[in-house]
Amino acid sequence: MSRSAHPAGPRHADVLPEGHYLAPPADLNALDAKVWAQTVTRNEGGVLTVGGIDVKRLAEEFGTPAYILDETDFRARARAWRTAFGSDADVFYAGKAFLSRAVVRWLNEEGLNLDVCSGGELTTALSAGMPAERIAFHGNNKSAEEIERAIRAGVGRIVLDSFLEIARVAHIAQSLGKRQRVQIRVTVGVEAHTHEFIATAHEDQKFGIPLADGQASEAVRRALQLDGLELIGIHSHIGSQIFDMSGFEVAAHRVVGLLKDIRDEHGVELPEIDLGGGLGIAYTSDDDPREPHEIAKALTEIVTRECEAAKLRTPRISVEPGRAVVGPTAFTLYEVGTIKPLDGLRTYVSVDGGMSDNIRTALYDAEYSVALASRTSDAGPMLSRVVGKHCESGDIVVRDAFLPADLAPGDLIAVPATGAYCRSMASNYNHVLRPPVVAVKDGEARVIVRRETEEDLLRLDVG
Ligand SMILES: *Cc1c(COP(=O)(O)O)cnc(C)c1O
Repeated sequence: MSRSAHPAGPRHADVLPEGHYLAPPADLNALDAKVWAQTVTRNEGGVLTVGGIDVKRLAEEFGTPAYILDETDFRARARAWRTAFGSDADVFYAGKAFLSRAVVRWLNEEGLNLDVCSGGELTTALSAGMPAERIAFHGNNKSAEEIERAIRAGVGRIVLDSFLEIARVAHIAQSLGKRQRVQIRVTVGVEAHTHEFIATAHEDQKFGIPLADGQASEAVRRALQLDGLELIGIHSHIGSQIFDMSGFEVAAHRVVGLLKDIRDEHGVELPEIDLGGGLGIAYTSDDDPREPHEIAKALTEIVTRECEAAKLRTPRISVEPGRAVVGPTAFTLYEVGTIKPLDGLRTYVSVDGGMSDNIRTALYDAEYSVALASRTSDAGPMLSRVVGKHCESGDIVVRDAFLPADLAPGDLIAVPATGAYCRSMASNYNHVLRPPVVAVKDGEARVIVRRETEEDLLRLDVG
């Protein structure tokens, strides 16, 4: 008998894990401001609106599923990060969270820099006018072609991820007659999770060069010797969806320790330190993220204190938030298709998208909220699981949620906080077409990434 097989029934009948955060909310129609974009509210008719436009109109005009992005909120969050860190620090938006040319323009206008990690992201950034010197190029396996393109374009920094890459970038820069500004990415032995972190000596993962065993020191020694490289700093990124600042504290302590060793051994004080991204957002009412100004204050204090203790000039700090800028600014609008009550368990609510537009639930067990968007309801709560239309039982969008018991096919439901790592990780599984991204601002809606068409699918399939 298969070990994982079990009679369906008893094991499923507990419905929600014990101590689960989920209890029926007092008011199913209420919208918790924490998880929704800034301008989201309900109009007098009870229909969810964003930027002054109601979702029924959005669904009519743009179809479902669709990612609806609140441009006002995006700009406000970008500005809040920029303002919080002031002129002594740099904020790099992590493009992998969600990148489009409109987003690049907004970032440019709001004074943020940009992280890219592939030739495709670099092309998108440059084509929308992001100045190359404000772009950082990341990745553990940049191709020689990508490196050459980045250096020719004049990117502000390349973050070196391995010994091999130190030599490779130096060689390419030199052959182009250039000196490339670089940082070295180190792994500090901090594994950060949402509510806790683990500090270890070694980190078992593909990114960066370990601080352990003097490896990072050796990398710095080599980089300082190579004519093609101008080493400007050390980079550390410790995880994602982090709420607890103590992981950053340990990371900063260890990075500053390396800066001190570098000064003592080579007589140079590197001018920059990048603490990466990973700051958490609210996916459900249970999450309590910090504001950018609190994060800026905490990080600046940590680095300043560590540097004073090590008698180092405080380096220029940079951070790389992705999720915390774009995550809360969008929701996914779906139409309810079939509804399947399973007695004593829950009701399966199928929508017209699924794991192809949001893989995070299947991939990371991510939690999401959901609300009936096309109307309000006085019906009681119905324990629901929102699932997609894919041929896969793991195709879950929202694992556990309460929706009104009178939910019906044709209703629109909205899943908030889908701005990050949803469109950017979307797939064509089952040849389902990837949804558009619709930006809404001040009563106007426009498509910034159009819906995929069947012609798009056939264009790639050359027979
Ligand atoms: C993914 C990543 C980020 C952004 O992470 P978020 O969780 O979206 O803030 C920043 N820096 C690096 C190097 C990353 O890999």
